[in-house]
Amino acid sequence: MSSPQPSPPQQGTSGKAKFNVYTIEECPACGQKTKRAFQVGDYITKDGANCSKCGNATKITLIYAEPVVKAK
Ligand SMILES: [Zn+2]
Repeated sequence: MSSPQPSPPQQGTSGKAKFNVYTIEECPACGQKTKRAFQVGDYITKDGANCSKCGNATKITLIYAEPVVKAK
């Protein structure tokens, strides 16, 4: 396997697969990472919410999609 490359989030239904898109906000001060649902307008380097640990402003460092897995 090659190292993971950041790929643009894909939303909607192209084909059968469905994806949930997530945003990772990272605190530059303490390194705390927060995963939350992607919101329209999110982009990497955008300011995120304040860090839950130290209160510093976080930045979005990663946006990615996970396939929705339906329980059988
Ligand atoms: Zn912090």
